[in-house]
Amino acid sequence: MAKASKSAAPHYSFFTSVERNFDKAAPFTNIKDKGILEQIKACNSIYSMKFPVKIGDKVDVIEAYRVQHSHHKLPVKGGIRFSMDVNQDEVMALAALMTYKCAIVNVPFGGAKGGIKIDPKKLSAYDLEKITRRYTAELVKKNFIGPGIDVPAPDYGTGPREMSWIVDTYMSLRPGEIDAAGCVTGKPVTQGGVRGRTEATGLGVYYGVREMCNDTEMMKRMKMTVGLSDKTVIVQGLGNVGYHAAKFFMEGGASVVALAEYEGAIYNPKGLDVDAVVTHRKKTGSILNFPGAKNLKKSAEALELECDILVPAALENVINGDNAPRVKARIVAEAANGPLTPEADAILTKKGSVVIPDMYINAGGVTVSYFEWLKNLSHVRYGRMEKRFSENMNQNILGSIENLTGKKVTAAERKIILHGPDEVDLVHSGLEDTMMGSYHEIRDEWMANKKINDMRSAAFVCAINKVGVSYMELGIFP
Ligand code: GLU
Repeated sequence: MAKASKSAAPHYSFFTSVERNFDKAAPFTNIKDKGILEQIKACNSIYSMKFPVKIGDKVDVIEAYRVQHSHHKLPVKGGIRFSMDVNQDEVMALAALMTYKCAIVNVPFGGAKGGIKIDPKKLSAYDLEKITRRYTAELVKKNFIGPGIDVPAPDYGTGPREMSWIVDTYMSLRPGEIDAAGCVTGKPVTQGGVRGRTEATGLGVYYGVREMCNDTEMMKRMKMTVGLSDKTVIVQGLGNVGYHAAKFFMEGGASVVALAEYEGAIYNPKGLDVDAVVTHRKKTGSILNFPGAKNLKKSAEALELECDILVPAALENVINGDNAPRVKARIVAEAANGPLTPEADAILTKKGSVVIPDMYINAGGVTVSYFEWLKNLSHVRYGRMEKRFSENMNQNILGSIENLTGKKVTAAERKIILHGPDEVDLVHSGLEDTMMGSYHEIRDEWMANKKINDMRSAAFVCAINKVGVSYMELGIFP
């Protein structure tokens, strides 16, 4: 995934930020027992490790983590990031966000996160493989991975390749485990992955924002027009999430006016062709000097340009107390995890902008991970049983209609009507339904209580209520 430049913000404990947001929402939940609230907030297990890996002819001591935030549902779930910024506080915060994220989109997992403090850009594929495999072996040793225990996934700096190394290492250490493929998600399709996982987070961002823009009442409150077609969008970070979000916004009729990466940003008020920008970057090594666009040397300036929808899709804390007063977007969709500090959040809310929180808007990834895990446990590709049946049914219905009316549809229409679902169709439709449904859960919570003054708090209320009920129904050991 892509790295965008970080502003010179003061140091924040990311985990404290998450706790502050939780505490703000807690009084509006149904959970009145302080002990339960404290238990929901706490990280259940923290595994901090150091292991040696030979890089070239010297030994490097690698620092890594796996944090399981909440065991209220098992397995726990969350990505693994490779970055020099990895530290325990960050992994704890990201693990906590996973708990709330899974609850919001009704994915029956607890939250977790892993991190390895390395710069993947500076290591060869050979060394990355050694580190990933050793990390997996450490997780196996401590029972911190498994389809019913803890299921990692891609995150910042990792992708299908790393997931493939993880599943292979796991399988070799647990021979004969029938559900072993479900020990990690985000795998290549050939290794048990599911079609539609790659674009899932970006597509989820698009579905969520589109649902809000189609919400007549919400748009009226925000004094905005309904629909996406007249909206301008700025995306920061052209990694997997940012790229797909930008592409789906463009295809959905919005205009992507600026794109930002760590080397700078480009701006064209008439709109940018996202794929052409990516091709240009591959060719020249930089997003800058894209034909027809204006260069912005300081990437972070793109966050402050005029637009309707701002999508920070890189790292945490990029919008903070310093630059938030200059952010003009009416809708900020947190495609990354934690891109706004609590100060930035307060400033934007005061200005009347709506921040669509990370724990909802970027939940498309874990939603489709859930579909992948289910596929692995059921050992069958989605659509395998029903595709032909649906096509035959559709053929029968269409045939009857044509007989009754004496009219025939065109060949192109026939193709669309007869089409039985492929795996990717089912995954996209499950994702769309999830993102639309969860938007309304959060929005209804927000509208029902006038004291809740931002969407993040409403999302927290939904999540805390669900996790809290789960703890209460689990019972607590006497
Ligand atoms: N790393 C992604 C996230 O932060 C995906 C996690 C998953 O699929 O388990 O949501």
